Amino acid sequence: MRNQYKLKQILWISLFFLLVFTPIGVLIAGPAPSSSRSVWLDFSVGLGFVGLALMAVQFALTARIKWLKEPFGSDLIYHFHRQISIAAFFLILAHPISLFILDARYLRLLNIFSAPWRARAGVFSVILLILVVISSEYRKKMKIPYDLWKFWHGILTTLVVATALLHIFLVGNYVSLPLTRMIWIVYSVSFIALLSYTRIIYPLKLMRNPYEVIALNEERGDSWTIRLRSTKGRSLPFQPGQFAWITAWKTPFSDSEHPFSISSSAERPEEIALTIKDLGKFTSTIKQMQPGQKIYVDGAHGSFSIDRYPAAQKLVFIAGGIGITPIMSMLRSMADRGDKRPVKLFYNNRDWDSVTFREEIAAIEKKIDLQVIYTLEIPPQAWDGEQGYLTEDIIRKYLPLNWIGQQTEIFMCGPQIMMEIVERQCQNLGFNDKHIHYELFNFV
Ligand SMILES: Cc1cc2nc3c(=O)[nH]c(=O)nc-3n(C[C@H](O)[C@H](O)[C@H](O)COP(=O)(O)OP(=O)(O)OC[C@H]3O[C@@H](n4cnc5c(N)ncnc54)[C@H](O)[C@@H]3O)c2cc1C
Repeated sequence: MRNQYKLKQILWISLFFLLVFTPIGVLIAGPAPSSSRSVWLDFSVGLGFVGLALMAVQFALTARIKWLKEPFGSDLIYHFHRQISIAAFFLILAHPISLFILDARYLRLLNIFSAPWRARAGVFSVILLILVVISSEYRKKMKIPYDLWKFWHGILTTLVVATALLHIFLVGNYVSLPLTRMIWIVYSVSFIALLSYTRIIYPLKLMRNPYEVIALNEERGDSWTIRLRSTKGRSLPFQPGQFAWITAWKTPFSDSEHPFSISSSAERPEEIALTIKDLGKFTSTIKQMQPGQKIYVDGAHGSFSIDRYPAAQKLVFIAGGIGITPIMSMLRSMADRGDKRPVKLFYNNRDWDSVTFREEIAAIEKKIDLQVIYTLEIPPQAWDGEQGYLTEDIIRKYLPLNWIGQQTEIFMCGPQIMMEIVERQCQNLGFNDKHIHYELFNFV
């Protein structure tokens, strides 16, 4: 299974490099443009080409193309998206800056009132790109609501690429040869095709197979579980630990979906459960859902699953609060499968009353080889378990030495700060990064 993902990863990475470097490769190795003026000018254009190709590829990365994300996992893809976008930003910015260094007369093109349209398109593209980068990097600091940011992020990035392509075609010099013209036409058509897929075809596909709420249950810890079933009687095959994007109250065209881990067993794909903590604007509406209500489900996504590591002989799960949901899916699936592998679950919560799923976890403890270690920040009076946050000493106390090594896989999900600390603790205990897997609930 791992080799299969490795092969796909190599394939996608090769395709990525091919897409990003083809325009500049042709510029360097292909026939010279009809009025090529200088090496420095070609270099400046090359920077812009690489930057734009990187930007355009972002649309494929963030589109809901399951087979593209599957080998890497969504959090890695989003992390990559963020880093590569910054790289693209600097490369694109370097294009006009290097032109101005080459010849200060180019600065006149910044005057959008007098500049020709070919320059205006380039200037608009760069201004919009600056807006995209600032609003994405500082969204939380600027207190921009996520929904609003996402809406404008989609529009602005589309305009950045569209105006940049327009700039290339209006300048004309670098699309004057049949080969270069064909490359940029193919890029433009692919870009439009991708946009049509994500904005029209995919939402239509989701609308054709709506799910409906079949039950709503309150859970401990301010959380609610919704059970969903396809109205078309279709199953949703998933690996335990994966998540789905959910659109409720609106249609999939609204581009307002939210990601939630599937908390039910992967052995029962005909019905899925999501357990959602009441934390904000959307999550506070879950408790108002009614049986029969339509929900659009896009899944399953993600790489956080025991099924990706079938060779694991021992499993360590570490959960903080609502981070239990993907782990619960793995526990439920193991119980349904009669999986005999030993499991340690470290489960950190504020207090005993808010331990989501605690009764069911106790029942699962009787079915599989599971030991649960609860750590409570505010324990009840007669509590004889662990207190406070999860520490290296607590992990060491419950993990025998023969658990530390290649055959153990660690899966953790919880608040980001907890995961950063616990990851370091696991490394200190001797675990290799390769065996530590985590799900981030805030990768956007
Ligand atoms: C892979 C994954 C699995 C998750 N699984 C669960 C789960 O099982 N149970 C659970 O309770 N929570 C889960 N979450 C977190 C959940 O998606 C967010 O708490 C929820 O989307 C916040 O929406 P809100 O409007 O209630 O919060 P708000 O207060 O409006 O937003 C708080 C923050 O949540 C994030 N967010 C808001 N809207 C979205 C959106 N549409 N898409 C992505 N992120 C958004 C943003 O970072 C935002 O700043 C998961 C998140 C991820 C990434």
